[in-house]
Amino acid sequence: MDFLQYKNGRLFADDIAIAELAKQYGTPLYLYSKNSITQQFLAFAKALNHRKHLICYAVKANSNLAILHLLAKLGSGFDIVSQGELERVLVAGADPKKVVFSGVAKSVAEIERALQVDIKCFNVESEAELERINQIAGRLNKIAAISLRINPDVDAKTHPYISTGLRENKFGISYQLAESVYQRADRLPNIKIVGIDCHIGSQLTQLSPYMDAADRILALVAKLYADNITIEHIDFGGGLGVCYDNEEPPTPAELIAVLEDRLKHFFNDNPNIDGKKIEILIEPGRSIVANAGLLVTKVEYLKHQEDNHFAIVDAGMNDLIRPALYQAWMRILPEKEAEQEPAKSTAKESTSRHLYNVVGPICESSDILGEKRDLDLSEGDLLVVCSAGAYGFSMASNYNSQPRPAEVMLLDDKKHKLIRERESFTQLWQGETIL
Ligand SMILES: *Cc1c(COP(=O)(O)O)cnc(C)c1O
Repeated sequence: MDFLQYKNGRLFADDIAIAELAKQYGTPLYLYSKNSITQQFLAFAKALNHRKHLICYAVKANSNLAILHLLAKLGSGFDIVSQGELERVLVAGADPKKVVFSGVAKSVAEIERALQVDIKCFNVESEAELERINQIAGRLNKIAAISLRINPDVDAKTHPYISTGLRENKFGISYQLAESVYQRADRLPNIKIVGIDCHIGSQLTQLSPYMDAADRILALVAKLYADNITIEHIDFGGGLGVCYDNEEPPTPAELIAVLEDRLKHFFNDNPNIDGKKIEILIEPGRSIVANAGLLVTKVEYLKHQEDNHFAIVDAGMNDLIRPALYQAWMRILPEKEAEQEPAKSTAKESTSRHLYNVVGPICESSDILGEKRDLDLSEGDLLVVCSAGAYGFSMASNYNSQPRPAEVMLLDDKKHKLIRERESFTQLWQGETIL
């Protein structure tokens, strides 16, 4: 978050005054730092530089066209989970040959469209999906490139809602069945096996689950080669965590270094597999965009009750659901810098400094952005929710008929650009009719 700084008591992002941005674009408002996104992408790219590789940004983390376009220009590929995401990346100028398609419920129409535009591969999540892809490819006279998403049955040690690599999760093909499903795929006429993949969860803050998953995936690769099934790429998925509070997740370089260590040993032990020809894929989402984003919100009211002080703000769980959905803790900074020392026993006891519950306008008790935050506030003040670039806007809804916020990209030289207009009221009922 090095793009955020107080100057003369006011908060700036990429040297631009947050208060000015709020005045120009209104609140609630999402801000993204182009520089910060670029740096994170390049950190992965640099770490993977010595290997044939492709970084497939996970579109669901933040699917704004400007972000997809920025990443496409940096050479990124994309991990998509729906036709909507496919259409987005195509509009943003992505090369379909750099698109991998994950997701457990790919429909006939989605598979047809992906085959028509010739994506890099389907990350197949079940045997039934494999049969369906083969059938559709046959009908369209195509050969579908596939990778099987293997569930390595490891504990990602993250929140249960964002853990995906345990046996009981709905994702991927079970480790025990993997080899036989590959053999089945190998016999299907309109299927070409090109890879193997896994994704064990999100907001991973330790390396050990990655290493466990990598070991299991590589062991399977060796078995496949023994069965005369060869692949072109290994995809280790996404999931690298970021710092919201005091987590100390590995850096992209540290993550890639442990994967590299595993790969080096693996290719040494398996000289029949040409390591130089195998492309390494990763699918980071959160770690590219989370810390590059902010949500700016305005204090509408302060409400002081027996046991609680509420700062009621204009952004709610409809704009940013992470705290409500995952009990996620997100840093909330005042736009006006706080006094260093609490103003204790000054003459007037009238401080508005309290431990505030920062809550939104939505009619749900779970509509909380942060609890017990030490803030000194007045009506009309601005607050900034940090690390809101991932799973923020992309999970936003119109619940309570709230138009979704505007999104702005902070550019170099104190420039900024509106990359999504605030929704209008008429957009709220677009497509609806009365009887
Ligand atoms: C969500 C997802 C990712 C990205 O996860 P992050 O935690 O945002 O890095 C990667 N691959 C797949 C298949 C996903 O579903």
